[in-house]
Amino acid sequence: MGLTENKIRKLMSDYPQVLFGFTDISYSEYGEEYKSAMIIAIPFGGQLTMEEYTEELFDKGIIDARNVEEELLPKIAGILEEQGIKYWIPPMAQQNETELRALFSFKRAAVHAGMGWFGKNDVIITEEYGPRIRLAAILIDDTFEYGEEITESRCPDDCTKCIDACPCKALKNRKWSKGISRDELIDYHKCNKMRSALSKSLAGKVRADYV
Ligand code: SF4
Repeated sequence: MGLTENKIRKLMSDYPQVLFGFTDISYSEYGEEYKSAMIIAIPFGGQLTMEEYTEELFDKGIIDARNVEEELLPKIAGILEEQGIKYWIPPMAQQNETELRALFSFKRAAVHAGMGWFGKNDVIITEEYGPRIRLAAILIDDTFEYGEEITESRCPDDCTKCIDACPCKALKNRKWSKGISRDELIDYHKCNKMRSALSKSLAGKVRADYV
């Protein structure tokens, strides 16, 4: 393990609740410019159950996670700068309302890094926190010890909780495995239409960067 990875792992030991992993990104269009991605999964504060759920508490949990992310990413960037290693922090948001895709998929990288799998809801599910995480990524032009890619969903076969809960019936009740595309799991345009409407209706009430 190299010096940079050692320093990053030491830093992460100060955040024991945060999951992280590394993956080779030769599968990605950024693979020529950066060798690896570090993926970070920050648990939402509170980890609410269905019984405890309110929109305000959910929003607070996301804000708590975002605060951790805003503290952590500059520290990792600082280590990389100190070592003279090229890096890039890709934006989380989708780039337009047509393709509905981010520049670099944090979810796909998390699966490659062995941190979780795609649920029937196309959300990353982790063993530790289920879907209640905020993902972030840093593309790094260096190599690391990589996680082992997850290639099969670990959702129970008969679980349909997300399918039943989806308010716009966008989910297709399909279990993911490597090679199954997003469109086979979810009608993203249907989902986005409702998300956009919800985002407008919540504006000013909560900091809704998750909708
Ligand atoms: S099928 Fe069940 S375990 Fe899998 S994402 Fe949906 S609710 Fe979660």
